[in-house]
Amino acid sequence: MTFEALGLHSSILKALTDAGYTKPTPVQEQAVPAAIEGKDLLVSSQTGSGKTAAFMLPSLHRLALQEPAQGGRTPAQEAQSARARGERPRFKPAQPKMLVLTPTRELALQVTTNTDKYCANLRRIKAVAILGGMPYPKQMQLLSRNPDIIVATPGRLIDHMESGKIDFSQLEILVLDEADRMLDMGFIDDIEKIVEATPATRQTMLFSATLDGVVGNMARRITKDPLVIQI
Ligand code: AMP
Repeated sequence: MTFEALGLHSSILKALTDAGYTKPTPVQEQAVPAAIEGKDLLVSSQTGSGKTAAFMLPSLHRLALQEPAQGGRTPAQEAQSARARGERPRFKPAQPKMLVLTPTRELALQVTTNTDKYCANLRRIKAVAILGGMPYPKQMQLLSRNPDIIVATPGRLIDHMESGKIDFSQLEILVLDEADRMLDMGFIDDIEKIVEATPATRQTMLFSATLDGVVGNMARRITKDPLVIQI
């Protein structure tokens, strides 16, 4: 099996070659074609299996195929022209198309670094990490660029959501990475709140070491007719 055979966008294929990836891992072989079709996924796999690329490559493919917004300007550009007109810029919330929730800052940073690698040739698509412990002004600056992809730990994300800095009404893809660890860490209420703020039409992909018990219950509640992959 090759990455070409999975049907990925040529800019992504080039990035994978540049990253030294020669062939998909088993989880990527199963997850990528279904996720490109927009299917929900429940995946039981471990760290090291290549799960980040399994959800990120098909998502980048879907985002890359979308037309750029006609005449769309970033919130930062709008603020700049408001200032030039002598007006106070009006804050416009970020409207991401994809959200990845992770249990820890370290994992969020890893996912963001890998994403930057995979979308090196997709200049329109930007990913940012929103993490607890990071200074607010820095996060506001990142959000003001209206990134397509936000990778975040649940707690800090809730703060921004509740203060109107992020609007999930345009969200198309939701990923819960290491969902079992997020639940172990007590993030269930935060996750429920975040999921409720996203459109019911979204694609949902959940990755977890186990799909039993509490994780399984949540997984079934937030996905629609998911493809279950056990590696
Ligand atoms: P993950 O399971 O997502 O944490 O990935 C584990 C490591 O494998 C990361 O360093 C990835 O960059 C790398 N990786 C993921 N997929 C592939 C692949 N198809 N070929 C080679 N390396 C990969």
